[in-house]
Amino acid sequence: NLPPSLRSIVEASRAHGEKIFLVYEDERVSFEAFHRAVAALAAQLATDGVKKGDRVAIVMRNLPEWVVSFYAAASLGAIVTPLNAWWTGPELEYGLTDSGSKVVIMDAERYERLAEHLPNCPELVRAYVSRSVEEISHPQVTHLESILGGANHWINLPDQPLPAAEILPDDDATIFYTSGTTGRPKGALATQRAVNSNIMAGAVAGARAFLRRGEAPPAPDPNAPQRSSLISIPFFHVTGCMAVLNTSLFGGAKLVMMHKWDVIRAFELIEREKVQSAGGVPTIAWQLIEHPARANYDLSSLESVAYGGAPSAPELVRKIKETFPKSAPGNGWGMTETCATVTTHGAEDYANRPESCGPAVPVSDLQIRDPADGVTVLAPNQVGELWARGPQIVKGYWNKPEATAQTFQDGWVRTGDLARLDEEGFCYIIDRAKDMLIRGGENIYCIEIENVLYDHPAVMDAAIVGIPHRTLGEEPAAVVTLKPGAEATEEELRAHVAEHLAAFKVPVKVRFWHETLPRNPNGKILKNELKKLFVEEQV
Ligand code: ATP
Ligand code: MG
Repeated sequence: NLPPSLRSIVEASRAHGEKIFLVYEDERVSFEAFHRAVAALAAQLATDGVKKGDRVAIVMRNLPEWVVSFYAAASLGAIVTPLNAWWTGPELEYGLTDSGSKVVIMDAERYERLAEHLPNCPELVRAYVSRSVEEISHPQVTHLESILGGANHWINLPDQPLPAAEILPDDDATIFYTSGTTGRPKGALATQRAVNSNIMAGAVAGARAFLRRGEAPPAPDPNAPQRSSLISIPFFHVTGCMAVLNTSLFGGAKLVMMHKWDVIRAFELIEREKVQSAGGVPTIAWQLIEHPARANYDLSSLESVAYGGAPSAPELVRKIKETFPKSAPGNGWGMTETCATVTTHGAEDYANRPESCGPAVPVSDLQIRDPADGVTVLAPNQVGELWARGPQIVKGYWNKPEATAQTFQDGWVRTGDLARLDEEGFCYIIDRAKDMLIRGGENIYCIEIENVLYDHPAVMDAAIVGIPHRTLGEEPAAVVTLKPGAEATEEELRAHVAEHLAAFKVPVKVRFWHETLPRNPNGKILKNELKKLFVEEQV
């Protein structure tokens, strides 16, 4: 009779039996098979001495084994610590030593990168490698298949209960690392309560839209067909794990995984698996809309294209409606420190306010405070720093008491985002405080200029960065990619911005980037990379 934890969600999901939970290439894993694999791995981890509070790191691409590792470690009350699979060997070593992980579970590619670093991780007692065809001579490293076998055969594992563990709501559950957009990634330590609140908040947020209109939310239909989502973003960030994976397990949905993001492959999978929800980050939504091969596939199953994690142009809302008339666009704002979702936005509300990322989910509060003192609460529509409160906010940063004290105060988290709230509580992200430029005393919000550039018919992708100026401090410059076959000159794009925005916001330079703009796995543009372009010009 313990209160909900990740473990209890795993146990409850077993009732879905033979229904398919995970699809990866030609592998299909039912809820039943998933449960057997989780129980087998949890038993092995318990034998390795993993106890409540120990850190278990996962370092792999989105594989069925990622999912099993996450819930197996969580079911023992271990603190699951997913690391960014894009990190280099030294960065992964930082993740393992910073978290003090006792066990690491990795895929073959990550093992290659990490092998020479494992001896530098003193707290590590065992490592598992999945899908490796190499002989492994290292005494502490074991093939994961020796415990589980291949994913298509998990159904043949013994049917056994999870090893005993008593898990309470305020026990630590996960450490996810922030994206490192503004500095070295920090581990955010979340409790069971925080992780589960995110799942529950998502479940009731849909009801809120009905209540706002004075209507009763419809009762859940027990005969509704199983839902199916395409996951195109990594599990190692909260959006993938908390907003998509945990909610799929909780809702008994089918999760269609991709070996890596590829828009054509996404079309094939949406058609083959009759996917209803796709999206992830705004760039992915744009690619689904703009790729010319879209017309060759039957994508009529799509009902929702939702994204978050990075700013999105208001134009995207109209484009989704035009391209997929049956599909509802959705947006959500959150950060690693909030276990994913704090605002959600969709349906008519989103169509009427396409610049907003929505109101807070019912369990959370938002405030706009004066960035100068971090205390004074500002009136509606005034721009200031966004603060958020709610049960899904993490406890603090792992091993970083100073950063924790600066960012978490009295149950509130300081987000580092500049935003405003309208009279009805809809939130509008204006810019990251660190991205905002000050040109001769005038504030310039990059997102505002980027959105105007997105409105230009030739522009595919756009980013504004600050470049140094001797007397003004900083000036805005643009880096743009054009749509295939489209043309536009620097002067034309500057004139387009000048038509819509004040002269001081017009980029002084526009540079064309011939590939897609560099982004991290959360869809955030790596602005430091782009700044180098202008630095190189000046020398
Ligand atoms: P770091 O904190 O290490 O610098 P990061 O802030 O990019 O990295 P995350 O926690 O992954 O790490 O990202 C949270 C940030 O993402 C938010 O602070 C916000 O700037 C941005 N963001 C998230 N969702 C949205 C959204 N819907 N619209 C606009 N921006 C968003
Ligand atoms: Mg951040």
